[in-house]
Amino acid sequence: MLRGVKVKLDPSPRQEAMLRSHAGAARFAFNFMLALVKASCAGRVRPFGWSRAELRRVWNAWKPDVAPWSANNSKEAYSYGVECLANALKNWKDSKSGKRKGPKVNFPKYRKRNRHMKFAYTTGCFGLIEGDPKALKLPRIGRVHCFEDVERRVADGRVLRMTVSCTAGEWYAALTVEYPDPIIPVKTGDNTVGVDLGVKTLATLSDGTVVENPKHYRRNERRLRRASKRMSRRQGPTPGRRPSKRWSRAKRSVQKIQATTASRRRDVIWKTAGMIARSHDRVVLEDLNVAGMKRNRHLSKAVSDAAMGMLSHAIQVKCAQYGTVLVVADRWYPSSKTCSRCGTVKAKLTLAERVFVCDNPDCEYAHKGVDRDWNAACNLKNYHVAPSAGGDAKRARSAGKTTAPRGGNARHETPDPGTETRTKQNHQRS
Ligand SMILES: [Zn+2]
Repeated sequence: MLRGVKVKLDPSPRQEAMLRSHAGAARFAFNFMLALVKASCAGRVRPFGWSRAELRRVWNAWKPDVAPWSANNSKEAYSYGVECLANALKNWKDSKSGKRKGPKVNFPKYRKRNRHMKFAYTTGCFGLIEGDPKALKLPRIGRVHCFEDVERRVADGRVLRMTVSCTAGEWYAALTVEYPDPIIPVKTGDNTVGVDLGVKTLATLSDGTVVENPKHYRRNERRLRRASKRMSRRQGPTPGRRPSKRWSRAKRSVQKIQATTASRRRDVIWKTAGMIARSHDRVVLEDLNVAGMKRNRHLSKAVSDAAMGMLSHAIQVKCAQYGTVLVVADRWYPSSKTCSRCGTVKAKLTLAERVFVCDNPDCEYAHKGVDRDWNAACNLKNYHVAPSAGGDAKRARSAGKTTAPRGGNARHETPDPGTETRTKQNHQRS
């Protein structure tokens, strides 16, 4: 089993310059080889294969001429650039031939300075240093101090790869660590919980727990706008002109706000997911069409801020980790429109209706109503895998369209590879 361990680095100014140099080296190798690939397509140089090994061979042949300074950096940096290009070309080719599912992948573009600050070590002597838990060894750069006890976090794993990257001026090392496959018994209890993900509240559980939506972006929007405005008033990069130092500083402050927002959001989401998976035996989620919801311009910002896609992914991962059974309800299952008490399905329920009022006059919920999200969560809790998937949707459509996929038009929807299958794989792997 592979797991990632990401730690923040604390390089000295000299080391930071070297980190930049390595990231630049990776970018140079990528861009040079991309230019060569383009030249070979145009018939200006002899054609060559696009496999990783072949690209590396061609790079090594050209290296002494085009990069006589290449010995200043670890060769791993160049290998990383070439590897990225090989992957990019492969993804483009597979996407074109239909072998690769999902959105279309374009032909690789040149990488820009300050955009791709990244390189990786895969071979050689890198990683943990014996007897020095708060540091990592980076070939050519030396011992770099970390803000955390890496040894404790890696524990008994084996480090396979170390990717060094820069976000908002801070350097991080992401270790890919291999652990022996743990045997996680699948929980057999019947403590089922339905989870309704939303924008108003991040998650509503059928047991009554409500996880508030912290709305990190919303909270920082003002600060971000001010910082962006400050940046826009300063002298940025224009063709033939380097950006001013004051612009660079302003840009850094914008990046910092964005990075902080993202990391706070990540923190809440993974903690919530862990809480849900740890304290239940069976979790029922709805299959959200997050991409479709983002297409609604009134919702897009709020949906992105809540990061519902990330939360449902996190719940899947955490369920696999704790052996919790995960059920993903059919996308057409009307969890919000059904009354959790008598089962009546409403014809129409707008997003503004925060209280669910049942249409059935004999029902208890017809008079006082019930919290909409909690009602949906209860329905999910009672969800049992539909006898005929798709049949439900068809029946619903013929019965006067009582249900719609969450997030609108299903016709534009690219078929999801299937959350169920992915979860099963996770279970097998764990
Ligand atoms: Zn009812």
